[in-house]
Amino acid sequence: MFSYHEIMTNRISGLHHVTAIAGPAQENLDFYSGILGLRLVKKSVNQDDPTTYHLFYADAEGHPGTDITFFPWADLAPRRDGYGLSTEVALAVAPGSLDFWGGRLARMNARISAIEERFGEKVLPFADPHGLRLALVESASSLGRPFVPWESSPVPPEHQIRGLEGARMVERELGETVAFLEEAFGFREIADEDGWKRYGVGEGVSGQYVDLQAAPNECRGAWGTGSVHHLAWRVADDAAQRDVREDVAKAGGQPTPVIDRFWFKSVYFREPGGVLFELATDGPGFAVDEAAANLGETLVLPPWLESSRPAIEAALPKLTPPTVR
Ligand code: ZN
Repeated sequence: MFSYHEIMTNRISGLHHVTAIAGPAQENLDFYSGILGLRLVKKSVNQDDPTTYHLFYADAEGHPGTDITFFPWADLAPRRDGYGLSTEVALAVAPGSLDFWGGRLARMNARISAIEERFGEKVLPFADPHGLRLALVESASSLGRPFVPWESSPVPPEHQIRGLEGARMVERELGETVAFLEEAFGFREIADEDGWKRYGVGEGVSGQYVDLQAAPNECRGAWGTGSVHHLAWRVADDAAQRDVREDVAKAGGQPTPVIDRFWFKSVYFREPGGVLFELATDGPGFAVDEAAANLGETLVLPPWLESSRPAIEAALPKLTPPTVR
């Protein structure tokens, strides 16, 4: 059995969070918290555009690797499919959970597809209300992950989403991206099936891989509602982040300086195929500026925006907790 301890010797230990672009914020909250049963662990604003929320959903404690976040940009056009984008986010559930989820998502009128098998695991593809492609994966290895169920979730603890399972990326061609993942991230090929190549760290189990497909005949894709904005990868601490940042630069990437996001520190760059990546530290975590029991209940602003709080709060749409179903 794979051990999580083992992979901490690698500098990237898996996915930290995925950030995507949503439509109206209330619809986003209703879906991710009210239907998928994730906890809203942080309600903040886009630090570059404080008229827009930044909503973070995760397990009860906001463990790194359980987190999917959104910029609700209701006025943005829908994404344009094509290469150079991450095209699907996979979420881990326990084996035997897909019957529950298929029934629940159908009852809530979510857009679901037929169950598939991928790399030996059962997968339920579906989409959120704004078109973001998602997949629930019955992942045995997810049972060994740090995960705390949320007791106020409408989803029973045994079926709750246990974290990010993986993500898909579509590229014009794979060569440069693969070389980059190997050199800068220390990834290796885990498996190859049905036109998708899986690259990851360690054994490439739950939360530790990305699936790549070449689409040389498509056009370049573009961000819009329903698209992934970036994939953030876990680094243990500032020192690991500095080391990986250097390797990214050596491999030809153009990483930003370290940016303090308070709940973690971030570095951004595009991988050679165009997908925006982030390196995010595991700490200090979401409880650094709110009590763990009250995560996500009040609007949290970075210090330099505190003086503008009344104007920011007035400009943001009101959010009400989803009706539990
Ligand atoms: Zn991010």
